Amino acid sequence: MDLYEYQARDLFEQHGVPVLRGITADTPEQAEAAATELGGGVVVVKAQVKTGGRGKAGGVKLAKSAAEAKAAAEAILGLDIKGHTVHRVMVAEGASIEEEYYFSVLLDRANRSYLAMCSYEGGMEIEQLAEERPEALAKVEVDPAVGIDAAKAEEIVRAASFPEELVAKVAPVLVQLYGVFAAEDATLVEVNPLVLTAGGDVIALDGKVTLDENAAFRHPAHADLEDKAEANPLEAKAKAADLNYVKLDGQVGIIGNGAGLVMSTLDVVAYAGEQFGGVKPANFLDIGGGASAQVMAAGLDVILHDQDVKSVFVNVFGGITACDEVANGIVKALEILGDEASKPLVVRLDGNNVEEGRRILAEANHPLVTVVGTMDEAAAKAAELAAA
Ligand code: GDP
Ligand code: MN
Repeated sequence: MDLYEYQARDLFEQHGVPVLRGITADTPEQAEAAATELGGGVVVVKAQVKTGGRGKAGGVKLAKSAAEAKAAAEAILGLDIKGHTVHRVMVAEGASIEEEYYFSVLLDRANRSYLAMCSYEGGMEIEQLAEERPEALAKVEVDPAVGIDAAKAEEIVRAASFPEELVAKVAPVLVQLYGVFAAEDATLVEVNPLVLTAGGDVIALDGKVTLDENAAFRHPAHADLEDKAEANPLEAKAKAADLNYVKLDGQVGIIGNGAGLVMSTLDVVAYAGEQFGGVKPANFLDIGGGASAQVMAAGLDVILHDQDVKSVFVNVFGGITACDEVANGIVKALEILGDEASKPLVVRLDGNNVEEGRRILAEANHPLVTVVGTMDEAAAKAAELAAA
């Protein structure tokens, strides 16, 4: 889960990372009041959207008075930044910036480790820096068992070629930022820019944090950070039903049991779809091993309400739950859904009790259901139906 900048700022503050005060506002009037509350001096009004490059897109404006803050908020609210509409701004204390740096620490899945990245040349987009001046971006592996302690932080700062007199200033902030990363179970903590102010302070001016949702059970407070409005309504519905669902942008709804089977189902559907004008899978949905009729119904319910879905491919391998139970589940699910089940279903069953499962489906003889023997044939059939 990605956080908004203001949420990252709050987390930083809670963990002792130096930040400037910031107050969110959803209207120009609130922005004006926030600027007054911050003392009426220079503030920065910043669009709160989950994408970078806000500055370039006109989403970050300096304001010298509360009246200017109001005008800035007026200009920013409603702005479209890379497809994200701005509904909220943060009014933050203005900083007088001497220098801008870059720092991030992230989960490096490929190396099963953590990676810190740091640059003495911050401010610009990091992808651009990595592309144009890779030597200016230090990459330092961080042992997850040790983390970023004072010594590691100094190693990172030196690797980024900071002048020696800045090492003692910047390193402690990296230790604090790592504290956020570790304590909150983040997979990314990025600060761009980390600034040196005219007063000589090192401050995290813009933060990006991604939290590991697999660790949500350890952090009840993280639920409050969730952006219910932004989440895809289908994903929200699936989440409420405890389903492992991810919306994709194709036309063939997918239900399978077991993440591996579902992943390969996505592949065969995408492959088969090439014969039918580029039909693609519409979602990932793993209903798990012991799928009951209720779970099947809940899954079908989500998928059938996806406007993009034209056909559904149910691909089940009977294991702990044998095929006859799965078949009964499908039949009951279609009963439960009644008229809401309105799209063709291609079902491929294999594994335990497959004969009985197929018999049950044949006997039910539901007009929307086609039973197909193999995964490839079923994928082709589902793609064909989606293209029709
Ligand atoms: P981003 O464009 O989405 O990454 O937004 P940032 O929060 O990083 O802001 C973009 C740029 O605006 C920064 O790199 C700074 O140069 C500038 N900026 C942001 N806050 C302040 C501030 O308080 N004072 C000054 N002078 N500049 C700021
Ligand atoms: Mn930034």
